[in-house]
Amino acid sequence: MKEMWRIIKLAARLEPLLLPAMAVETAIDSLTPYIDTLLGAWVLDRLVAGAGLAAIIPTVVKVLLLRLGLRFLFEIAQQIDNSRTDHLRDMFLALRCEKTLSMDYEELSSPAVNKLRDRINTDDMYGWNIVGVTGQIFMVVFGQLASMITAAAIVLPMISFTPASIAYLAVTAAASVGVAMLRGKFRKKGRELVDSYEKARSHSSYYLWGNGVDYKMGKDIRVYHAQPMIEKAIAVDEEERRGRLRYKRFDRRTWAFGSGFTGLLQGTSYVYVILRAVSGALTAGQVVKFASSIYSFWSSFSDFVSQWATLKADCERMNDTLGFMALDEGKTGGSRPVPKGGNLTFEFRDVSFTYPGGVSPALSHISCTLRRGERVAVVGLNGSGKTTFIKLLCRLYHPSEGEILLNGVNIEEFDMREYLGLLSVVFQDFALFPFTLGENVASAEEYDGERAVSALDTAGFGDRLKTLEKGLGTVLYKDYEDDGMDVSGGEAQKIALARALYKDSPFMVLDEPTAALDPVAEYEIYTRFNGFTEDKGAVYISHRLSSCVFCDRIMVFEDGRIVQTGGHRELLNDDGGLYARLWNAQAQYYSK
Ligand code: ADP
Repeated sequence: MKEMWRIIKLAARLEPLLLPAMAVETAIDSLTPYIDTLLGAWVLDRLVAGAGLAAIIPTVVKVLLLRLGLRFLFEIAQQIDNSRTDHLRDMFLALRCEKTLSMDYEELSSPAVNKLRDRINTDDMYGWNIVGVTGQIFMVVFGQLASMITAAAIVLPMISFTPASIAYLAVTAAASVGVAMLRGKFRKKGRELVDSYEKARSHSSYYLWGNGVDYKMGKDIRVYHAQPMIEKAIAVDEEERRGRLRYKRFDRRTWAFGSGFTGLLQGTSYVYVILRAVSGALTAGQVVKFASSIYSFWSSFSDFVSQWATLKADCERMNDTLGFMALDEGKTGGSRPVPKGGNLTFEFRDVSFTYPGGVSPALSHISCTLRRGERVAVVGLNGSGKTTFIKLLCRLYHPSEGEILLNGVNIEEFDMREYLGLLSVVFQDFALFPFTLGENVASAEEYDGERAVSALDTAGFGDRLKTLEKGLGTVLYKDYEDDGMDVSGGEAQKIALARALYKDSPFMVLDEPTAALDPVAEYEIYTRFNGFTEDKGAVYISHRLSSCVFCDRIMVFEDGRIVQTGGHRELLNDDGGLYARLWNAQAQYYSK
């Protein structure tokens, strides 16, 4: 019930008109048959009593007009329902997306949230989403329940409460509750069966649904002959197929059992009606009313029981979605404004960090400073913690121990948006978006074209830009635009660099900024960047140690620790140090 209420509240907030429309629609749909029954019974009684047409017709006309009015109302409600349902789904998907956009990155990237998002996507595909469940709630609550109550209101006055009929009612009520519970259990067991197959399918779903096998994967699939491996993963498992058949059989049987029981109740009810009619306790009209209503009552009851069980399971499933929507926005931080202009100094003070679920720390006792106006190189082997260091600087993750300060204040205290305004970062695995080139560079819909062109120029994309017919208006990638532009790794990196330049923050952080660039482009970009970052702080993470020569200071990372700090010459002179070893290892490939 709690989940049901939360779903209804959310649906009402997103699409207020939909719920009344659904209520009207289902109520009219389930109550109209009773109007017909009552009218039929009334007419029959009048005819048996010898009433003339003149006494009957006006009432019939009034009721038919009422039916017509209700039908009209039903059509309007249905129209609203149809149009608003799609809208509710869109609104909800947008809300879910916004949640993903605003969540704390550490939480978003955690394995638990990733699993949760996977489950939500699968549920959505199967219709266990806000639209499906809201519709179900209305069908069950407003449809079946309203129908049962109406039928009971018609039938109950006609029942004579003798010990025999009370006993009959008690037995049928107890049996119904028993059957309802049994069907609920069956349903749950069925769901568990389905769940176990779905779990087994989650790997194949990766390839079957979504963008699993798309053209971006296509190269590697072909070159490495990965087709058989993927075909095996998507093949329908024989065991699973049999399991599904078993479930379907099981489902059919439980359904047949339920229907059989409903039939039995309807049959015994008819016997009761006949006995009452024979003893002269009911008029002909009452017999019609009773027989028809009791039939509808048990049908609605049967539907209610099976749909209630389904609804209960579906609402429970919606817990994943509701849980995701209720996830804490996380450590978005304080509201302190960041220092404007002047000296800016970051200080890592004995910072350690272990990834959620990680066994060993990715960073251990890091202490260092980064100053505006200084160029710092961060070097080290793969996995030594360089990128993690940057992620912590960006407040994407938060230190497990120690603290990071900006001008002596813990960075968590600053307003997150303002704080990130201080940093232009090009991540190693940066992402560009299927928007236009200009929008990508500015990361906004509205942008300064001249500045965007100049940033692209500095990043080495100027010549390519001149060849683009639509210039800054060229859409990246072909996913959504037929005439979109596919970019090479190096070109993408230049665009990402241009985005960092356009942002023009006091600190520039480049993680492997030139990995995909050719040596000529690399040289040019470093030269231009150095001019650009003169009054800024710059952090370069690079495996090409030649770039360190430009830097004021080098920090050498090893196993999550800073093992050396100093200038290029100074570190090179330390023969046994890691920097000298890395330098010499790289230099030997270049010397003749
Ligand atoms: P580098 O940038 O020096 O190559 P990273 O900072 O990326 O190294 O990684 C440091 C360590 O943290 C590595 O052992 C890596 O496997 C681990 N690591 C990186 N990202 C994650 C993550 N999201 N979850 C768990 N461990 C991670």
